[in-house]
Amino acid sequence: MSKKVLVVEDEEAIARLISYNLKKAGFKVLISGDGLEALEKIRLERPDLIILDIMLPGMDGYDVCRVIRKEDISIPVIMLSARNEEMDKVLGLELGGDDYVTKPFSPRELLARVRALLRRSQNLLETSEHKTFSLDKLVIDFSGHVLKMNDRIVQLTPKEFELLEYLIRHRGIVVSRDLLLDQVWDYNFMGDTRIVDVHISRLREKIESDPKNPYYIQTVRGVGYKFKEHN
Ligand code: CA
Repeated sequence: MSKKVLVVEDEEAIARLISYNLKKAGFKVLISGDGLEALEKIRLERPDLIILDIMLPGMDGYDVCRVIRKEDISIPVIMLSARNEEMDKVLGLELGGDDYVTKPFSPRELLARVRALLRRSQNLLETSEHKTFSLDKLVIDFSGHVLKMNDRIVQLTPKEFELLEYLIRHRGIVVSRDLLLDQVWDYNFMGDTRIVDVHISRLREKIESDPKNPYYIQTVRGVGYKFKEHN
């Protein structure tokens, strides 16, 4: 069955270009040019992936992202931002976006990101075995994608979950940002490792009792990150 992608973009030419390329690649496409309308579509249609422009009439992309994550909708989101809006990208990721693409972008690159993100969330569903992992106050059920801290359920986005899963599967080993970008984001082209750092800090906010002084996800200066091993 073909996957459904919602394109939220008020610039018609760009929306059409994205839609054309996605359809050609076999995706079903929904388009919305307005933030509030997009929210309605997300709730009703449950797309498999959302391409979300930041500057929108009605409600901007940040708010759309914030609202859907608050409603625990874990659909992968690719944020679109205009060139040189560095802050925007970081904010977009902090609000729950899984990836971002900067305008102007090549349709091929966007398609690669869409496929990578969908493949990853699919893999996550298919490869999860009935396995749990626990360390101190952290308990993870990999099959149900449930994470609990102190018996309280913590909501993670699919990317956060996948990143954490990768770190845990390689616990005790230092993993570089480049490797994480390659393994978790599936980038074959030059990626920006800040995306890794932003996701790590988001994870820490959710699972560390003192994010500034992390217990589970440790920083290894100049190298990368390491998940704490059992004592
Ligand atoms: Ca726009």
